[in-house]
Amino acid sequence: MPDLDSFRTVAMNWVAQTDLKDWTLVLLSPLFFLTVLVEWLRFRRADKQRSTPIYDLRDSMDSMTLGGVYTFLDVLIVFALVLPAMEWAHQFRLTTIAITPWTFAALYLGVEFCYYWFHRASHRIRWFWCAHVVHHASEHMNFTTAMRQSWLYSFAGNWLFYTPMVLLGFEPRWVLFALSLNLAYQFFVHTQWVYKLPRPIEFIFNTPSHHRAHHGRNPRYIDKNYGGTLIVFDRLFGTFVEEAETPDYGLVRQVHSHNSIWLTIHEWVAMARDMLRPGPLNQRLRHLWAPPEWERATSTRDNPPHAPERSSRPHHATRP
Ligand SMILES: [Zn+2]
Ligand SMILES: [Zn+2]
Repeated sequence: MPDLDSFRTVAMNWVAQTDLKDWTLVLLSPLFFLTVLVEWLRFRRADKQRSTPIYDLRDSMDSMTLGGVYTFLDVLIVFALVLPAMEWAHQFRLTTIAITPWTFAALYLGVEFCYYWFHRASHRIRWFWCAHVVHHASEHMNFTTAMRQSWLYSFAGNWLFYTPMVLLGFEPRWVLFALSLNLAYQFFVHTQWVYKLPRPIEFIFNTPSHHRAHHGRNPRYIDKNYGGTLIVFDRLFGTFVEEAETPDYGLVRQVHSHNSIWLTIHEWVAMARDMLRPGPLNQRLRHLWAPPEWERATSTRDNPPHAPERSSRPHHATRP
């Protein structure tokens, strides 16, 4: 029988080692839930007349379940895996940067830049897409959509994208805190409440309009608007698209499930299945880093050896 007291001691010691900054998203949860409640009340009556309601109870329950598991498991995984790895990398830093309001602003901008590339990689590299697909699996857009996250992000290695900030000289905890604030900001862009904000804001910041386009599966919206707090890196690197037509939310190959476990692992399973299919090893391994829509050319009569790759369909997902 496990000793409950020693388990409690270990748990208390572990909590004592954490910092308030590590719990940012947990501490902000009441604000997120309050915002969901206000939005749901706002659209409740109008939703009854809509053919595609903004809120769907089962969909929001799925998102909130995934969000709850993610919020708590991620703190655990960050402690067990991510912080030790980042602390290890920190010993090779170029310099030591103390946190002041100005250096924190620089850190936030640096983390935003890293987030842009993490998010772009999450759409264009199958390995990272396996974790990110969870966030795009809702066919609705409301504040609960923001909560739909995968707790397998840390295993996929999302933190590797922020390690350059650690190597520059920022403390790992501050890097993760800046990331938490960035993610907290992003919660508020998941809404259909506002259409466009004043032009200067739409020009610089990631807004509900830009992020609605990001969640659209309309061909013009695929793989666009990767920014977290800002939209300037999308403008700079050619991935910006203006929201014009109404976005059709969800995946190109929609996953139809309300099972949180399946929603979390379905793309990992699909990738493993693709890799297990017979063929040359380099082609099988390529599924790991090729874009999600990439398929191997096969030499059957139905599929000639040089069959073209399917294009612009990154939101790859299979049914259970
Ligand atoms: Zn995305
Ligand atoms: Zn989103």
